[in-house]
Amino acid sequence: MNYRHIYHAGNFADVMKHLVLFHVIDHFKKKDTGFCALDAHAGIGLYDLASIEAQKTGEWQSGIGRFDSVESPTDFALFQNEIKDDLTQHRYPGSPLQIARVLRPQDRMIANELHPQDVEDLKNNLRPFRNVRVDNKDAYECIRANIPPAEKRGLILIDPPFEKKDEFDILIRQMKEWKKRFSTGVFLLWYPIKPHLAIDDMKDAARELGLSRTWCFETLKYPRYQTQTFNGCGVILFNAPFQVPERIEALRPFLASRMDLIEAPCEWLTPP
Ligand code: SAM
Repeated sequence: MNYRHIYHAGNFADVMKHLVLFHVIDHFKKKDTGFCALDAHAGIGLYDLASIEAQKTGEWQSGIGRFDSVESPTDFALFQNEIKDDLTQHRYPGSPLQIARVLRPQDRMIANELHPQDVEDLKNNLRPFRNVRVDNKDAYECIRANIPPAEKRGLILIDPPFEKKDEFDILIRQMKEWKKRFSTGVFLLWYPIKPHLAIDDMKDAARELGLSRTWCFETLKYPRYQTQTFNGCGVILFNAPFQVPERIEALRPFLASRMDLIEAPCEWLTPP
């Protein structure tokens, strides 16, 4: 387990993932009924952008750093508003902290992290929050143990570091399990775009799975098949809540111009 998210926190990939996450959670909160969010690869929850590690790559500067002094469209400004206090302190909140902060008394979160040190940092960062449990399991084991949630309304965030060569094969197998156990769940799955990865196989598997409203959104900084570079990333959103894809799609020109994206394609893998 060599991956450390501190080197990448707040980069363009985090911005696109967290923007979608924000709108999914916002959608869940439109109903009074409680929901359960399961963050299966949670990281540590809060990142110091002034740290040696974050400074070393400077990735956040071409991600969240690009939105500093610009007027944003409302659907981006809503997300920005949630993280603006952290940014003024040169910090960037990760997915579990973003979720924990907006939970209502009837909602809950399970934040899971396998790395032994990171899980301790995560516990510290989530200590002030109620209705939050931190687990220290393998992500897929944690998902298996907790779906379907008792609330029957839930979001599962799957955000692996893709250190394992067969992570895409694992995901293709896991998707079938998720459908069997929780076919109405909202699953948000992030992936990197590099030429050698089995992205098309995963999208085909997501299509074949046939969960309703499966939507895919990608952001590319370099040509998709360029070698030796991290060319971009994507998310697949299963059971996409109404209006979330539409709201994100409308933001694409803004995201592309701020973060120098060469493309930000999206498509429905199953009909809306
Ligand atoms: N979701 C976080 C966010 O958006 O702020 C970032 C997560 S980072 C991309 C991936 C995390 O997964 C790392 O902290 C890593 O230690 C953890 N991880 C790696 N393998 C794991 C596994 N098998 N189960 C759970 N967590 C794992």
